[in-house]
Amino acid sequence: MYPATRRTMLKNLSGAGLVAVAGLAGRMAFAAGIRPDGKSALIVVDVQNCFVTGGTLPVKGGEEVVPVINQLAARFENIVITQDWHTPGHASFASAHAGKKPFDTQKMPYGNQVLWPDHCVQGSDDAALHKDLRLPTAQVIVRKGYHQDVDSYSAFMEADGKTPTGLGAYLKQRGITQVFVTGLATDFCVAWTAMDARKAGFAVYVIEDATRAIDLNGSLAAAWKKMQTAGVKRIQSADIA
Ligand SMILES: [Zn+2]
Repeated sequence: MYPATRRTMLKNLSGAGLVAVAGLAGRMAFAAGIRPDGKSALIVVDVQNCFVTGGTLPVKGGEEVVPVINQLAARFENIVITQDWHTPGHASFASAHAGKKPFDTQKMPYGNQVLWPDHCVQGSDDAALHKDLRLPTAQVIVRKGYHQDVDSYSAFMEADGKTPTGLGAYLKQRGITQVFVTGLATDFCVAWTAMDARKAGFAVYVIEDATRAIDLNGSLAAAWKKMQTAGVKRIQSADIA
């Protein structure tokens, strides 16, 4: 019954025009195709109190990623969690630079740095993982941004571009070849993590509806453009089988 029904459906659809059919076919290929295996890891970036409503650097709708990520977790054997984990008075804080306000930029030895409100200070409640995140099978938590003078949006490499966090080696040693990136914020830590994962040789998917963005001066559109140029695949949680 089923194949016949499907043939009928496709035949009917073919009348709707080539473009629509091609679009649907592409979508169906994704829906059928993405099945995380033992070589896949889910990376959950910075789903911490600081980045949700009530935190020190809230991302609009940040908490909405929690149920999506909790559901995705059941599909993955391998899960990595990251935490932004700054020293008090960290160089990425506007308060550490005389005359600067949050969201100004500052030239650093490693490039331009957006200056943020004080956030995710080591050991604070603000830096804790969101209380509703349910990832009991996660195997490793990578903390980043703990060197006083260097930020680290990426879970793989600090913002100086030369100090690795160790995550790339960890994943490779465990035979992981593809990563699925989720969390906060799409246009900063998620994007930098995804692009560095590409640089390290992983196949990379960003699960868009499991992320939320800060979107500072067009940063979200710019981040997607860079990610797509780097070969990062943009998918939705419904595309995971
Ligand atoms: Zn930070």
